[in-house]
Amino acid sequence: MDTMILARHLAEALTFPTVEGNEEAKENFLAFLTRTYPRVHGELSVEVVGTYSRIYRWKGKNTERLPVLLTAHYDVVPVEEGTQHHWTCPPFSGEIREDFVYGRGALDDKNQVICILEALERALEKGEEPQRDVYFALGHDEEVGGKEGAQAMAKVFQARGLSFSYVLDEGGAVVEDALPGFFQPFAFVGVAEKGSSMVELRVQGEGGHSSMPAGPSSVAILAQAIARLTDHPMKLRLTPAVEKLLQELSGVGGVQGFLLRRPRLFFPLLGRSLEKISTMNAMLRTTMAVTRIQGGEADNLLPQEAWALVNVRLLPGDTLEEVLQEMKKIVEDLPVVMKRITTEEASSLSPTDTAEFKALKELIGEIFPKIPVLPYIMAGSSDSRKYEPCSKNIFRFSAVKLTSSDLTTVHGTDERVSLENLETMARFYEELLRK
Ligand SMILES: [Zn+2]
Repeated sequence: MDTMILARHLAEALTFPTVEGNEEAKENFLAFLTRTYPRVHGELSVEVVGTYSRIYRWKGKNTERLPVLLTAHYDVVPVEEGTQHHWTCPPFSGEIREDFVYGRGALDDKNQVICILEALERALEKGEEPQRDVYFALGHDEEVGGKEGAQAMAKVFQARGLSFSYVLDEGGAVVEDALPGFFQPFAFVGVAEKGSSMVELRVQGEGGHSSMPAGPSSVAILAQAIARLTDHPMKLRLTPAVEKLLQELSGVGGVQGFLLRRPRLFFPLLGRSLEKISTMNAMLRTTMAVTRIQGGEADNLLPQEAWALVNVRLLPGDTLEEVLQEMKKIVEDLPVVMKRITTEEASSLSPTDTAEFKALKELIGEIFPKIPVLPYIMAGSSDSRKYEPCSKNIFRFSAVKLTSSDLTTVHGTDERVSLENLETMARFYEELLRK
């Protein structure tokens, strides 16, 4: 595969500002795909869903085997006002500079879109035929919830009674410096996503003049409630995915190797040290974080009302209702009214003791030899959970090697992907299509 051609295709893909509301850019982007990948669009069946999403189907030799579903999205988040000039190259210019393709969407997620299509086009060029049916669901609204795209496409699959061997979406990656104390890269495969819900705390007070306060003000009571919740985090819990992650870590060394080999047995001990690492803590419990607070409008008036919003990130297995009940119990004796503002539950947890996970692990091993493959729970959400009714094996992995500082460019400044990563990613999909 010619890496320069691949890079130029991605660079052009990045020139379309496919942000929410820009219908014209989405139309132009789709037209660009059709002319750039003539074989894919001539030989595969292509179905339009929700105006701007597409389902591609490549018929395989063996109809006995369950089909696989690849997914990716081409909508991007906007560039924050006033940050454009911080970019090395303008975010929608599609420039290639010093072995990197720059632009909004270079990592999230047009790189994936282009590499999947590139791999399909090359396979068709060589006259290859897949072992089984391969579906590619191309979404257009992931960044705003995926309702018209992924959700509608999942409904189409369901209506046809389709069930997939596995679904592969964006999410994890090979990260070089992900875990403190481990000086080596790991390949992280997302097997679940936490839910992100908002809960409101509201306190009604008496009001009045601050020169003659009677008892604590609404703001003081709210502060007390927040402090109480902060002091009472939800219980640590070991999910099968994280148990497996810890076991895999024991194999590569580290001082806690012995404990890590039996994470469930030593969890009371392990949990206490792991919760100090924010990434691990997030995988071991439902977290609560106060993100907004308001109360009071004048220097000398007691506010009648004060409120705060808590972002609750739900661990698979916890429901918002259960967590809300626990939160209420913690502040039971305070005059605080608590209610849910938005509800997004956690996704299901894909098992890791399956042939499908093992096959993905082997494929990753072919492309990234000697790099341990670890399942993990994603803090953010992707389109992939929409496909839960169609498969119990939902994996989130992009075949790119990144550092934690590269990850901050996703939705941030100077999003870029290296030519080396592009080549690796396309190779990963080429291999996958042969399985
Ligand atoms: Zn994305």
